[in-house]
Amino acid sequence: MQKYREIGLKLTPQRLAILEYLDGNTSHPSAEDIYREVKKRFPTMSFATVYNTLEVLRKRGNLLELTIDPERKRYDPNTSPHHHLICLRCKKIVDVHVDYRIDLPQKERESFEVFGNHIEFYGICNNCKQKGGVMNGSV
Ligand code: ZN
Ligand code: MN
Repeated sequence: MQKYREIGLKLTPQRLAILEYLDGNTSHPSAEDIYREVKKRFPTMSFATVYNTLEVLRKRGNLLELTIDPERKRYDPNTSPHHHLICLRCKKIVDVHVDYRIDLPQKERESFEVFGNHIEFYGICNNCKQKGGVMNGSV
């Protein structure tokens, strides 16, 4: 919570509930997921409040916006470099903490200074695999 105080975000009880939900959360929730969860405690919470708070955090570098799920933006409070693996069926996203050494050849990066990379792995999680139907081509 300390890091959120330091960024000067005005902490209303509703915003605090959003921050608490995100703190240490590794499920990569969507704005809808966060809204659904926090609304249990704050029934008057609006989706706009959730979305605006996420935008403030993202712009301040306290929250990553992931585009690995083509259907919905997903959020990650862990802003340290890591990669992601998504289940194409249930859209579960897990962290991949492997430091891949990828050097972009000079001619590909032109005159860019490269700061990092983000690898998106995709597949089928064990849970979905056990439900069957993996090999029929539709994920
Ligand atoms: Zn799955
Ligand atoms: Mn992550």
